[in-house]
Amino acid sequence: MKNQFKGKFGQFGGQFIPEVLMPAHKELEAAYEQWKNDPRFIKELDYYRRDFAGRPSPLYYARRLSKKYGHKVYLKREDLIHGGAHKLNNTLGQALLAKYMGKRRLIAETGAGQHGVATAIVGANMGMTTQIYMGVKDMERQRMNVYRMELLGAKVIPVTSGSQTLKDAINEAMRDWVTNVEDTHYLIGSVVGAHPFPSIVRDFQSVIGIETEAQIIEQEGRLPDSIIACTGGGSNAIGIFYPFIDNTEIDLFAVEAGGMGMQSTKTAALHSASLCVGEDGILHGARTKILQDPYGQILESCSVSAGLDYSGVGPQLAYLAQIKRIKPRTASDKETLAAFHELSEIEGIIPALESAHALAYLAKAADKGELGEIVVINLSGRGDKDLESVLKLEGNK
Ligand SMILES: *Cc1c(COP(=O)(O)O)cnc(C)c1O
Repeated sequence: MKNQFKGKFGQFGGQFIPEVLMPAHKELEAAYEQWKNDPRFIKELDYYRRDFAGRPSPLYYARRLSKKYGHKVYLKREDLIHGGAHKLNNTLGQALLAKYMGKRRLIAETGAGQHGVATAIVGANMGMTTQIYMGVKDMERQRMNVYRMELLGAKVIPVTSGSQTLKDAINEAMRDWVTNVEDTHYLIGSVVGAHPFPSIVRDFQSVIGIETEAQIIEQEGRLPDSIIACTGGGSNAIGIFYPFIDNTEIDLFAVEAGGMGMQSTKTAALHSASLCVGEDGILHGARTKILQDPYGQILESCSVSAGLDYSGVGPQLAYLAQIKRIKPRTASDKETLAAFHELSEIEGIIPALESAHALAYLAKAADKGELGEIVVINLSGRGDKDLESVLKLEGNK
């Protein structure tokens, strides 16, 4: 199930990109093949992961949550990684690769700002010029992240075209990359886009699953029965799933944002569930499952957590869902907020709203008996960034 040919995952993936972008993708693919198994590269990445990011992240047995739901629930604590989420696993890997390629400049696009911040962190640490494209609407909504990026020495470039949000920022970043490819790496933030990005980002994020495997064996003497992860583009999900994909005894749940509810699967604007209700289409260089209208225009996704608002999903996850290796599910905004409060109150951990979707599924599935005895939940990030949104949503009560 892991086999792939030129970035194809069944009918999904590929390189649906303009001719001018081909050399940049080819150069990146060749460099990644050259360095990914190189002992010097691996050693340096290990150093950054350990001493800068704080890996390995703990696999924490959530005692009170376990008691409540009648499962042995373990949380993979990506919320404890520097920056507060799993995103640094990817930006560290790509920035180091870019350095080995001789690039001196990083560019990225960001919607909610989290990926922009994770890129700015590595740019500062590795002494690279960093420019982040961001729609002006998103800049207004995410002022603190704009300030964080600036504090970290990155330049945030306002994007005023189109809807002034993430998808326009992506177009601008692509334009920049074509023009400046000689000294610039375009650092994509999830397992999306054209080959080789989905594979590169997956490999850098699979450190989560590799650690989980060793940790659960140490603590339980066996592998888990199921693993749950929230899914936007899909990088934290595939990151924890990947080492377990060939072991079909383990159920893998990918929980998408069901937004305000799934009353109508065609009102895609109410949620962000590309795997559950998306259709085949091409988005940002890859064939995958996307939210589109009957004319093939991309619908903007919408949920309580900005980090899950992406109108597509990584092509490998689309494929794994198609062959029924992963189980796509949804959690609504309401269920997510309940899980956000619950983990805070009974475990003393405030989760990111994204991660709270995965936690919400534990509550939903507990009655159905579909999870088995040992459950691992990927706690992709911490919730400090979400306090203002939650206060607003709940009417400052
Ligand atoms: C960005 C983000 C996500 C969603 O991205 P994926 O690529 O789907 O993992 C999930 N959780 C947190 C905490 C994030 O910051």
